[in-house]
Amino acid sequence: MLSKSVQSNVVSQINSDIVAINNAILLHKKWLAEWNKKLVFQLPISDEFIQSNAHKHCGFGLWYYGEHSLFTEEQDEFPRLGSLHIALHDSVRHISLKIANKQELTPEDYDKFTAKEIEFTLSMTHLRDALFGQLYSFDYLTGVHNRQALYALLEREHARLTRTSGVSSIVMVDLDYFKKVNDQYGHQAGDEVLMFFANYLKERLRPYDSIGRYGGEEFLLCLPDTSINDTEAIMNRIREDLAAQPIDITGLDGQPYSIKITASFGVSSISKRHPISEAVETADIAMYQAKSAGRNRVKTYHYKDQSN
Ligand code: GH3
Ligand code: MG
Ligand code: MG
Repeated sequence: MLSKSVQSNVVSQINSDIVAINNAILLHKKWLAEWNKKLVFQLPISDEFIQSNAHKHCGFGLWYYGEHSLFTEEQDEFPRLGSLHIALHDSVRHISLKIANKQELTPEDYDKFTAKEIEFTLSMTHLRDALFGQLYSFDYLTGVHNRQALYALLEREHARLTRTSGVSSIVMVDLDYFKKVNDQYGHQAGDEVLMFFANYLKERLRPYDSIGRYGGEEFLLCLPDTSINDTEAIMNRIREDLAAQPIDITGLDGQPYSIKITASFGVSSISKRHPISEAVETADIAMYQAKSAGRNRVKTYHYKDQSN
């Protein structure tokens, strides 16, 4: 595994979330094994299996109600997992109380418990799979979407625009003379600049805009329901502020340096009439026009049918 310094926060967050959920799964298995042991050997069943708030105090519950991250909580499966966990505890309590009260236990009681346990285990697996899915959606270095994940978002955006007949902007951004940063200060410094730039874009764009790393020092943006004129203005502000922004890096000699970079932007749009491939290609054409015109500028592609 790469060191933290070249791993984005989001990726290291997901990695530790996966470790945490694996640990919670293990604690749950131990808790269940302990209960099963009591059933098999007819040992007294302790409060930890009977109390009405037992689900909050078992190892899994401590993770679920306390230690998990916000990122884990945002996953679709998370609330369902909580309900299934409570249902499982209810089932364990029901059986435990029957035993404690010397009531007859039926195979149906145990079947119900088994069904709950299977559902709960499946839900934990879904949550963990969702986290793995997220892990493979982000660029390891910069923490923005990787190309594959961004295309999946663009597919959804295109389907939405086909329904609504709306228009969204697509922007291709390429850092200017980036090779020089690597050559002069080293690859690690180049990585620091890429991380800086991705965070800079995240801070400057709206939460519902998408940012993806298209290639080495190329980023692809999608601004939903935004006209090319508005996007051009937004990109020009971002471009000007970037050019004036000092970036702290570490040189090959281990010394700190402060540098400035610029970027070239190509704006185009995606809509019912202009699918993803065309939008990306035309944004790329506009970006190359910005390069040939001298770099550090924004160029916009206008479709022949003037539909953007
Ligand atoms: P231009 O203004 O024409 O875009 O010039 P440029 O130097 O930015 O373009 P060029 O395509 O010649 O160089 C891109 C460089 O980006 C070369 C490559 O080594 C570097 N690069 C690509 N990915 C990474 C990365 O993940 N980390 C670092 N440090 N450098 C990278
Ligand atoms: Mg470049
Ligand atoms: Mg490039």
